[in-house]
Amino acid sequence: MRIANYESRTVILVDEKHGIDVAEASNGRFGPDIHAVYDDWDEFLVWAAEASGDSFEIDEGKLGPLTPRPLQSLGIGLNYDEHVTESGFGRPEKLPPVFPKFQSSISGPYETVKLVEGGRNDWEVELVIVIGRSAHHIAQGTGWDHVAGVTVGQDLSERATQLDGPAPQFGLGKSFPGYSPQGPWLVTPDEFINRDDLAISCTLDGEEVQNGRTSQMIFDVPALVEKLSQILTLEPGDAIYSGTPSGVGFTREPEWLIQPGQTLESTIEGIGTIRQVFTS
Ligand code: ZN
Repeated sequence: MRIANYESRTVILVDEKHGIDVAEASNGRFGPDIHAVYDDWDEFLVWAAEASGDSFEIDEGKLGPLTPRPLQSLGIGLNYDEHVTESGFGRPEKLPPVFPKFQSSISGPYETVKLVEGGRNDWEVELVIVIGRSAHHIAQGTGWDHVAGVTVGQDLSERATQLDGPAPQFGLGKSFPGYSPQGPWLVTPDEFINRDDLAISCTLDGEEVQNGRTSQMIFDVPALVEKLSQILTLEPGDAIYSGTPSGVGFTREPEWLIQPGQTLESTIEGIGTIRQVFTS
């Protein structure tokens, strides 16, 4: 199943262009707010399996983020070996670096993003995990059981803020307005032939800058959910930006950064593509 956040209402997609309004089709039992749906995820899945209703045409410009107001929105650093190498950091062994992608930075799949003026603005395509069942101290290997679905995200990063000062400011450097886009819809794990091995890539003005597979993650989806749950209580509607493959801009020689007017397209196999246009 694919669900979308359309004009702040939850929609089940019948195809990429048409959807059913969940609150209307369920006579108000579920939604319209997408976080209310995550809070009732198991019941929603049972209802959705049989759901029917009048479908309407989707205007992609009205699609919003899948988690507009998560209790927690997390970013994972250094989760692909080639990105660890290009970044010059050490390889994480027990836990990857974890930082907040603060809620005010979350944006939809096709929004224009204002670049930090004079900033070192960079891209990071990422698989975004959305939690569907509360997770605390869960057993190894059970992480997927707590995932509602996955979507495409960008961990847009202003490297000067991120890396300046006596200790890195990953949370702030990656949380400017619009710097956490996600979408275009949530895909439930059962939709994938192999949910642990999805092609992930992004292009800047049509030129491919990143290209990897989620099977290259050092900590895969179940491991991330399980390890985070040993400390946090993950709640329905929480978002985890699960790390980026190699090919970011700031490690290139010379440094290659996003310029005003450029278009960034990020794609994950079996989900879709999000697109950001940047302004100064
Ligand atoms: Zn990242």
